[in-house]
Amino acid sequence: MSIQNEYLNGLMERVVQRNPAEPEFHQAVREVLTSLSPVVEAQPAYITEGVMDCLVEPERMIKFRVPWEDEQGKVHVNRGFRVQFNSAIGPYKGGLRFHPSVYEGIIKFLGFEQIFKNSLTGLPIGGGKGGSDFDPKGRSDLEIMRFCQSFMTELFKYIGPDTDVPAGDIGVGGREIGYLFGQYKRLRNEFTGVLTGKGLTYGGSLARTEATGYGLCYFTDNMLRDAGKGFEGATVVISGSGNVAIYACEKAAQFGAKVVAMSDSGGYIYDKNGIDLPLVKQLKEVERKRISSYVDTHPQAEYHPGCAGIWSIPCQIALPCATQNELNLDAAKTLIANGCFAVAEGANMPCTPDAVDALQAAGVLFAPAKAANAGGVATSALEMSQNSMRFYWSFEEVDEHLKSIMSDLYRNASNAAAQYGMAGDLVAGANIAGFLKVADSMLAYGVV
Ligand code: NDP
Repeated sequence: MSIQNEYLNGLMERVVQRNPAEPEFHQAVREVLTSLSPVVEAQPAYITEGVMDCLVEPERMIKFRVPWEDEQGKVHVNRGFRVQFNSAIGPYKGGLRFHPSVYEGIIKFLGFEQIFKNSLTGLPIGGGKGGSDFDPKGRSDLEIMRFCQSFMTELFKYIGPDTDVPAGDIGVGGREIGYLFGQYKRLRNEFTGVLTGKGLTYGGSLARTEATGYGLCYFTDNMLRDAGKGFEGATVVISGSGNVAIYACEKAAQFGAKVVAMSDSGGYIYDKNGIDLPLVKQLKEVERKRISSYVDTHPQAEYHPGCAGIWSIPCQIALPCATQNELNLDAAKTLIANGCFAVAEGANMPCTPDAVDALQAAGVLFAPAKAANAGGVATSALEMSQNSMRFYWSFEEVDEHLKSIMSDLYRNASNAAAQYGMAGDLVAGANIAGFLKVADSMLAYGVV
């Protein structure tokens, strides 16, 4: 797919020139602009009033030094980032990623996606994202704590419960949020809902841990049922074995599917009897081990080094839940040849653009990340509400909210696609539905 509208085409060229060597950011912007051609043609004010130009430029990009000392007394210096991309409909909201691959282009792609995702949830949250090129793998709890404290010592100047509310992402889970929140509270001398994904003893929401994975399955369930299909009896392959993957696996199994494979950055496991999720949780959440350890206690399962091979396992439903661009055209072709009928993105932008085109062209139901993994940030917004009220809902109440948010989100994306003549194209539908609320708010503000 290419960008049909001439102005948007030129805008895309300017984005590439002004943000050189940031291919992930270009990829994310190109996908959105491709979907928006019919929208700007129906409402040219989005172009003439400067909304489109503003949309692709972050309101603020913060970049800082993060020095910290390891257990041997050696000083390390990492880079910290926070992009405050768009606050048209609420305070910036989006996770923090700690991974060696992090640089400005990754943070900007994630922050840009977050604008539309957050809008789609129907909740009042703007788009932001942050992180560091710090690699938490193999670091002790003490080193993680020192790093998080140093990171927050700079970040705290720019965030606040009504300004910018970070959360977790790759490499940032409950442990890291605890250290970050503790440092923020100490520096500011106030107890506010400045981060989400907090522990339950200090302001966290029940069901936040499960929310992205559960939400992914709720969204997929809506999409499947609309097409006369379901999870029941289906074979599912899930990449990753982190927060999103684990809870997607749990909910898919509750819906009656059999999950047969999971992975980490080292390789993947295939268990034809169905993944033993309590064991994966123990290995990943408690012992912080590699997924390869799974076969130590399950000799009937297979471990294969390398990630890409996971998509060669025959399945009806594929849920990529690890990282960006992990499912390419070859993988898409293999999935299609093996009879896969649905792909739903749990990770952000896990499918390459040519993979998405191939899947859609083959009639595979395709749920884009922006919509399908929005359950995490939606529940983060519910955590913010509970923090403001100083009152907490039960797990069931939060889960019910999540279910209805994901089903509304599916309807909105599906209706928007149909309204602009692209029925069934949830990529376009999600981009359009997410865009309209943000763009109309920007129009209302004038040039700011
Ligand atoms: P975690 O850190 O909990 O887990 C990430 C998983 O992906 C791990 O199994 C990790 O393996 C694997 N992985 C990471 N990088 C790579 C890579 N380069 N190649 C192969 N595998 C890799 O992160 P989350 O589960 O939170 O996040 C996963 C995805 O979901 C990300 O794209 C994130 O942006 C997205 N997401 C997360 C949300 C959340 O609420 N957590 C909300 C919405 C989206 P290893 O342990 O070996 O590194």
